[in-house]
Amino acid sequence: MSFRLVETDGIEIFVSEKLEKAGAVHAFTTRVGGVSGGDYASLNLRINCEDSHENVGKNYEILARTLGFSIDDVVMSRQVHGKLVRRADAGEGLFRPDRPDADAVISDRPLALFVFVADCVPILLYDRATGAAAAVHAGWRGTALDIVGAAVERMAEEYGTRARDIVAAIGPHICCGCFECGGEVGDAMAEQYGADVARFLVKKGGKVHPDLGLINMYALARAGVSERNIDLCDECTRCTPKLFWSHRLTGDRRGVQGAVILPGRDAK
Ligand SMILES: [Zn+2]
Repeated sequence: MSFRLVETDGIEIFVSEKLEKAGAVHAFTTRVGGVSGGDYASLNLRINCEDSHENVGKNYEILARTLGFSIDDVVMSRQVHGKLVRRADAGEGLFRPDRPDADAVISDRPLALFVFVADCVPILLYDRATGAAAAVHAGWRGTALDIVGAAVERMAEEYGTRARDIVAAIGPHICCGCFECGGEVGDAMAEQYGADVARFLVKKGGKVHPDLGLINMYALARAGVSERNIDLCDECTRCTPKLFWSHRLTGDRRGVQGAVILPGRDAK
C-alpha cells in the first residue's frame, strides 16, 4: 500500500492507504484548491504570512468540510525544530496569538491535529487500539533529535499506546537528491542513530544528502513500530512545484502544506 492523490471538493490531498485502512481520518494537503492567490496560490494553510486571514480561514473551512471536523477543533503549534511533544485535550481554533511551541502534538480526543511543512517531513501516527494520534513535524533538526520517537514514547505514557499498534504515514517531503546539506547534518544524524545511519546519507562533492524519509522510518522502527505498518510517500516537495510549496525553491514567500489527523474516530 502507499499514498493516493484524492481530488475532493475542489482540493487535492494525499491519503495514506495504511492509515485509511486503520480507520484514521487524515490528509496531507497540497497547494491545489482553495482561494489564496499569488505566492500563496491556492490552498494555503499558513497563518502568519502576507496571505489574508480571510483567505486562509476559507481554506481551512474547505478542508474541515471535506474531512468532517469543526474549525473549533483545530490544534496547531508554533514549530521550532525542537523535540517537544505536546498533549492537546481541547480544540484551539485558528489565529490564536499564543500558540504553544511544539513540533509534535498528540491527543485521544476528537480534534484535528495539524503540523505544517514546505520541505520538512510531516508524519502522522495512529494507535489502532485506542484511537490516539499524533501529528509530527520533522525537519533535519527534528529528525536528528528523534522527534518521531519522542512522540511514540509520549503516546505510550499518556494513552498506554503500544508501538506495535501504531500505523504511521510519512508524507511528502524534500527528496534526498534535492536536499543538499553541510557535513554537520550528517554528524548530527550519526550522533542520534549511530553508524547505521550512513546508508541514508548520500555524499556528493563534500556535501551530504540525507534521506529524511528513510531516517524517520528507521527512527520509527527503532521505537518499535513495525515496518509493515509504515507508509512512506515518495513525492518530493522541491521537485514538484505544481503540487507543493518548497522552502528550498522559493524561500519564505510561500504557503505551507498541512498534515492533519483526527484521533478517536473508528478505532480498530
Ligand atoms: Zn526532489
